[in-house]
Amino acid sequence: MTTLVIGGAGYIGSHVVRLLSDRGERVIVVDDLSTGLRARVEGSDLVELVELDVTRPDAAEKLAFQLRASGADAVIHFAAHKQVGQSVAKPELYWHDNIGGLANVLAACANAEVRDVVFSSSAAVYGVPDVDLVTEDLTPAPINPYGATKYVGEWMLADAERAHGMRTVALRYFNVAGAGHPELADTAVMNLVPIVLDALDRGEQPRVFGDDYDTPDGTCIRDYVHAEDLAEAHVAALDYLRGEDRPHRVFNVGTGTGSSVLEVLDAIARATGTEITPEIAPRRPGDPARLVCSTDRIEETLGWRATHDLDEIVTSAVQARRLA
Ligand code: UDP
Repeated sequence: MTTLVIGGAGYIGSHVVRLLSDRGERVIVVDDLSTGLRARVEGSDLVELVELDVTRPDAAEKLAFQLRASGADAVIHFAAHKQVGQSVAKPELYWHDNIGGLANVLAACANAEVRDVVFSSSAAVYGVPDVDLVTEDLTPAPINPYGATKYVGEWMLADAERAHGMRTVALRYFNVAGAGHPELADTAVMNLVPIVLDALDRGEQPRVFGDDYDTPDGTCIRDYVHAEDLAEAHVAALDYLRGEDRPHRVFNVGTGTGSSVLEVLDAIARATGTEITPEIAPRRPGDPARLVCSTDRIEETLGWRATHDLDEIVTSAVQARRLA
């Protein structure tokens, strides 16, 4: 079996590439290396890197060629911009690249008669839901262009199923952190765990965006999922697409357990042996007080559940940073 992984040199994509090659499957990584790193996908005979920007006008044709030449039977599509703030400032970039890139990918799959597609969606599709646990049945209501492009991406998959007989899964990631292997770690400093580690390395104290939310300690609650667990969810989704029965096409990926910003800081203090006295900053616009995943659907349908807790997530991130 051969899988084409678009954005496979990225943080999450490379975890999936490693899992697939570890189980003996061939992988064609397509990546423009704009944020992906070649080093993350080197070292296995089963993995080949093709440098290609999937947003270019000729990308659908080039991708179709790669799919036919490799005999790939499935595609996992990660490549996209993923910064909420940037999406608000430059919405055209998100519509052009996230939506245009996916359109090229789906056109290539239709052309090369590749049926199975797994797509990186996001909990950002839900916006600011006022519920304890977010189920997939909740009507998405994204509040920024990033979340909107992910939701539209899910519609595009549904359209491709109807038009071309494809079979697709969209995985709505909650808060991803940690590293399954130090060399695959998140090198961007865009999310809470890397931001805090980066601040501590510079001898600064982290900032907490708001401590007056309606939560037990006043700080926002999120569902942190280990990158290795998330990668396993993609493999489970591929196996599901290759099987017969297929009741759902959208799944949340998280742990079902919420952690507050202060709890994350405590875990980082334990893992680093540092005392942390955060600065309390104003709320960040658009932050829901609580965003925690219902895992029922993915557990029941894909037989997947997370196995790593917050301490393991944070410890793996700290170790990866020390070895970097
Ligand atoms: N956060 C924070 N300080 C920071 C970065 C993030 O307090 O320096 C909070 C943020 O307000 C949110 C949580 O940490 O409540 C997770 O933020 P992140 O940007 O990692 O992910 P998001 O949930 O926004 O996708």
